[in-house]
Amino acid sequence: MTDADVVIGLEVHVQLDTDSKMFCGCSTEYDDSPPNTHTCPTCLGLPGALPVVNERAVEYAVKVGKALDCSIAEDTAFHRKNYFYPDLPKNFQITQYDSPINEDGELEISVEDESKSVGIRRAHMEEDPGSLVHKGGSIERSSYTLVDYNRSGTPLLEIVTEPDVESPEEARAVVDKLREILEYLGVFDADRGGALRVDANVSISVDDEEGTRTEVKNIGSTKGVVKALRYEVTRQKNQLKRGGDVQQETRHYDDDRGVTVTLREKAEEKDYRYFREADIPPLETSEYVEEVEIPELPDERRRRFREEYGLSREEASKLTSKKAVADFYEEVADVDSDLAATWVVDELLGELNYRDMTVEDVDAEDFRGLVELVDAGEVTDANAVEAIRASLDGRQGFVEVVEERGLGVADEGETLEACRTAVEENPDAVDDYLSGDDEALNYLVGQVMQATGGGADPATVNEVLREELEGEG
Ligand SMILES: [Zn+2]
Repeated sequence: MTDADVVIGLEVHVQLDTDSKMFCGCSTEYDDSPPNTHTCPTCLGLPGALPVVNERAVEYAVKVGKALDCSIAEDTAFHRKNYFYPDLPKNFQITQYDSPINEDGELEISVEDESKSVGIRRAHMEEDPGSLVHKGGSIERSSYTLVDYNRSGTPLLEIVTEPDVESPEEARAVVDKLREILEYLGVFDADRGGALRVDANVSISVDDEEGTRTEVKNIGSTKGVVKALRYEVTRQKNQLKRGGDVQQETRHYDDDRGVTVTLREKAEEKDYRYFREADIPPLETSEYVEEVEIPELPDERRRRFREEYGLSREEASKLTSKKAVADFYEEVADVDSDLAATWVVDELLGELNYRDMTVEDVDAEDFRGLVELVDAGEVTDANAVEAIRASLDGRQGFVEVVEERGLGVADEGETLEACRTAVEENPDAVDDYLSGDDEALNYLVGQVMQATGGGADPATVNEVLREELEGEG
């Protein structure tokens, strides 16, 4: 094999964060519900039930179209994709075939500081099927499978890229970037149970000759994207190296084992017998296109953070990858933008992460109070870290913890007092110091720091102690 290039196209299925399903009024909050309790004749596909399009889902699709710089169809329509599978009670899925709402968009990604643009072929609306529950844990290990229709009819947006993705790492960047944008737009919320599933078309082209594609299905996480694609790329390359052919097929990604396995021969488009969904009239989008506005997106916000607050690329990127974190930072930034960035990025996020919490669990105004105290030199860095930990552990306010535990900086009088006490109470250390043992001074400094709850300034304590000890000698 001489010149082999990896060619990857992605299909990202995003569950839109609407309250009700795509074509009926059933609630999408089914995560903690018993199976098959969020269903009605429409999402069970019973004869005679009629679908009605969820307006919010259309609004969200238009938002995504605008954010990805797509051309948005003035008239769009729904189609039936016919196939039989137990999770699909109607024997067809309502989707969009030759008139998708969004086409021809673009997504900027960057991998190791190299930027590139990935084409978005289309982003269309469809419904999620029900879910199959394999009792043995996986499809291969189960002797039977149950089906739950709670998910059936959940609004999906399928975002399809052009085959511009050239490595598993780029694929991951695409998925990460899409997730960021979707969260900024408020159309997707993983914390509220929103799922994002990826199918990937993978082939290896040799000497510019197109290779046979496989489709890897149902990759459920960002980490999974890299693992599944690395496996599949290596598998195909090895196959070609041995002089074999790559079969056109659909493969399933097994996350536990980190491998892809043959699921079935790939169905061709004609197998699906697409035709117009006559129960749904054509949809005009002009009203949505006019009314829907999109907020500042992650890239813009990153640029603005660097310009407005003078942050480094890394800080700006850490602060903007989640909208909630960026919003939080902006409520603290005016104390001192550098100091605020340091305390949010280096301290708060780590401590939150460690406790499985997010910035949404803490009060920005209160944190701002703590940063103000640090800025004014009224709390030492070490004590501010302690205040953050204690506050998160005890679900108590930051400033409240500082006051309650006396974590504030000791004033001159307090420091002097504590130094004198230390000298009085530790005659042995004083003797040692006076007979030339400098180590003894460190011990006394430690005593003072302890007595002031870490609030004294170590340099001042040193100085004051030396003066006091000279008086002794
Ligand atoms: Zn329903």
